[in-house]
Amino acid sequence: MKGSPSSGEPTTVPGSTAFCPACWERVPEARVVCPACGVEIARYLAETDYSAQLIYAAKYLDARRRLIAIWLLGERREKRAIPVLHRLTLTAKWDVHLAKAAVDALAKIGGAEARHSIELARGHHPSRFVRRAAAQVLRVSSQ
Ligand SMILES: [Zn+2]
Repeated sequence: MKGSPSSGEPTTVPGSTAFCPACWERVPEARVVCPACGVEIARYLAETDYSAQLIYAAKYLDARRRLIAIWLLGERREKRAIPVLHRLTLTAKWDVHLAKAAVDALAKIGGAEARHSIELARGHHPSRFVRRAAAQVLRVSSQ
């Protein structure tokens, strides 16, 4: 976080942050290199595989792009996304559409781990909308 304007280094706008795709630390948006792990952020994003970028998007981008990323992860049956989707079903209390999208994606991905996450959402999500969606995909998948 050093670098005074006089040194010619890029300065950062206070409160303007992004996230490092490699170590998930918060980094000032103007930084090219992550101060925590030293990764070149733009190059890392360009070189990592598409699913990794989608997982990043599902976690950190704006709601619209998160929804798209979650949907695409489901379409791709991306098992690596299960932990992120699991967290979304539990933490997205303020945005039931994100939580429902995560439930739908988990249903597409399938498997015991994904099913367990959906069951937790059915039992514990504060929104009835999400609990119902979870109950419905569980019914469909058990037929
Ligand atoms: Zn990093």
